[in-house]
Amino acid sequence: MKTRAQWLAMLLVIASCARGPGPGGPDISPEILSEVNRIRAIDNHAHPVRFVSEGTPDREFDALPVENMEPWSDPLKLRSDNPDVLRAWQMLWNYPYNDSDATHMREWKQHKQRASQQKAAEYPEWVLDKAGIDVMLANRVHMGPSIQPPRFRWVPYVDALLFPLDNSLLAARNSDRKAFFADEDSLRRQYLQDSGVHAPPKSLDEYLRLVVTPVLERHKQGGAVAEKFEAAYLRPLSFEKAERAAAEKVYANYVGRGTPPDDEYKTLQDFLFRFIASECGRLGMAVHFHTGFGGGSYFDIRGTNPLLLESLFDDPELRRTKFVMVHGGWPFTREITALLTKPNAYLDYSVQALVFPPTTIAPTLHEWLVWVPEKVLFGTDAYPWSDQMGWEEALWIAATRGREALAIALTQMMRDGDISKDRAIELARMVLRENARNLYALPE
Ligand SMILES: [Zn+2]
Repeated sequence: MKTRAQWLAMLLVIASCARGPGPGGPDISPEILSEVNRIRAIDNHAHPVRFVSEGTPDREFDALPVENMEPWSDPLKLRSDNPDVLRAWQMLWNYPYNDSDATHMREWKQHKQRASQQKAAEYPEWVLDKAGIDVMLANRVHMGPSIQPPRFRWVPYVDALLFPLDNSLLAARNSDRKAFFADEDSLRRQYLQDSGVHAPPKSLDEYLRLVVTPVLERHKQGGAVAEKFEAAYLRPLSFEKAERAAAEKVYANYVGRGTPPDDEYKTLQDFLFRFIASECGRLGMAVHFHTGFGGGSYFDIRGTNPLLLESLFDDPELRRTKFVMVHGGWPFTREITALLTKPNAYLDYSVQALVFPPTTIAPTLHEWLVWVPEKVLFGTDAYPWSDQMGWEEALWIAATRGREALAIALTQMMRDGDISKDRAIELARMVLRENARNLYALPE
């Protein structure tokens, strides 16, 4: 039995060890936070929406728009009553209310529309300024007049090139996949057309020469700094080494006729993936992957474990290619930490600050920063999630909360005596800006 005094002493010890937000908020050095907030960031991953004055709204912010999926249990912070959305409205549009009342929101939506019409083609850059973003990597099918360098850098999608055969077996898996493969089929038709090819080439060699390489070269000429794979929405990330002869056979057997069985098709996809990754290395473009959790009730979480990518990082023929594991791989954040020692592996923490509070993300950032800090990149995943949370609001939330998470991690490292204040500020600059600048060779 413990005495009352012993219990009290124990409680005091527990209280003094407790981390995270108490009544006074998280342990965060105001000086570090203000330094972190001053740095004009490079956002490694986002989906900015083009300004359109009237007519068809822009749909090219994603190759696989997630709006038509079956219902799932939304994470709390992606629901419309997330108080951060209200704060974003207040910060971006001077929203005068303290509630998300539908009439208030409707009224203020017109105000938001007027603001964007006034700024017209300069509107997307104005949004970046509001969130302290200098350069945003734009995941888009095409760029557009208001989304241009130097403030926006292109990251096009190339999953469509991995699936050149009949995809009906893959599409039959569930309704989400059905919608996704329809989107990929239409993007691939567009890629063929852009390459001046009017029917799928008869041999793999021709497909690589007349379609795959020209698409990648056009992207490079169009200013792309990386190619994006949303493959995790379409198949597991286990792109194993495949023999060219085996891939040629599958291609020749099924192109334009019949439906390839899953195992044969996988061989071809694996080969194509490594071919594309190697071409990206030759052309000086990074390869971006969606890693970790993804949207939808059918999303294959196990298939998105970043450890499945290890054999790619270890392929001597792919060492010239720089791979970026987008979203930081949650829930596999420890696995992804270990992968940072591969010389060609990088990660960003986009989306995390949209779905978790800063105190939850900070320990993960801490672990990455004591491991290989020069491979850790800031990112937001600003995306038009809903009517209330457009890419603008998502950007403001993820940038603000993502910076707080970084400041909490750096404060903790300082308190632990691991780093000086100067080093903390240097690490902040690396994560928010310099690591990305080095990776993509962007100008100062
Ligand atoms: Zn994204």
